[in-house]
Amino acid sequence: MIVVVEKNIQSEKLEIIINELNSNGFDVHQSTGEQFITLGALGVQPGFDIRKIKVLDGVIDVFRITEPYKLASRRFKSEKTVIKVKEVEIGGEEIIVIAGPCSVESEEQIHRLAKIVQKSGAKILRGGAFKPRTSPYSFQGLGEDGLKFLRSAADENNLLMITEIIDTAQFDLIEKYTDIFQIGSRNMYNYPLLKVLSKTQKPVLLKRGMSATIEEWLMSAEYLLAGGNPNVILCERGIRTFDNNLRFTFDISAINTVQEKSHLPVCSDPSHATGYRDKVSAMARAAVAANTDLLMIEVHDNPASALSDGPQAITPEQFDNLMTQLKQIAQVISRRIG
Ligand code: PEP
Ligand code: MN
Repeated sequence: MIVVVEKNIQSEKLEIIINELNSNGFDVHQSTGEQFITLGALGVQPGFDIRKIKVLDGVIDVFRITEPYKLASRRFKSEKTVIKVKEVEIGGEEIIVIAGPCSVESEEQIHRLAKIVQKSGAKILRGGAFKPRTSPYSFQGLGEDGLKFLRSAADENNLLMITEIIDTAQFDLIEKYTDIFQIGSRNMYNYPLLKVLSKTQKPVLLKRGMSATIEEWLMSAEYLLAGGNPNVILCERGIRTFDNNLRFTFDISAINTVQEKSHLPVCSDPSHATGYRDKVSAMARAAVAANTDLLMIEVHDNPASALSDGPQAITPEQFDNLMTQLKQIAQVISRRIG
């Protein structure tokens, strides 16, 4: 951490700053320049609040040199994390495709869709059984029945399953069924939920909060890692910006940025990021070109009757065409799908 101090500061005030740094565990190295005094404070604690120093008399500014997250950072672990779930390797050379409906709507529906997405090359079946809906009047999910249907549909088609947990009280129930937990955008800041999921070894796909900075997103990942779960997948799913043409703005450059800052595998979700079916395929192609480690795509065979997110679901035929294109793009960047 670098603390910039006024050149003409009274010595007692400078002492107060240095004492405050020392009492927070920093070693302080002072250098006097032409315009400022610079204090190099070494030994930063991950949770240190730099405002404690910023507010002191005579301090002009404080700059952090290390990130506030540790376990999630490349500095801590330089090689990419690879997560093995049954036969599937997440974060390796293969780009893993997660596909399925927004919600599990019935046993027949999820079995039908599992077969369809598996045939086109998906490895993981998605479907919400507990839905975090913006409106309390919207479909809230099938609950445990949904989990059962998803599990049997995944098993019958040699797929893994992923489903969202929205409440700490659901942990034991969902854990019985799922291979991977999903934390939704609306829950990225739900620290009690993150703490509960830090105690399992099952992978957790952590969606970026729709208004979260990359640093806040990585701090939420840090909760999972610090609690003892190393199997964390990050997922960019669109953020809120000043533009409202689409549902969200797909922050495609976040894929690279976060891969640079962190060793964790990164997923991209162009379905929620755009919110419209006709935008999904182009953004999925772009995400693969941007070197995403996984893709999450909503697929429905009758989107008009879908109980949630129908307008952003692509059809089985569109999904199959998309997969053919994605396989070619993956090859160009020395990766593969399938
Ligand atoms: C979902 O995956 O269906 C979902 C609700 O996603 P998000 O949390 O990104 O809105
Ligand atoms: Mn959805």
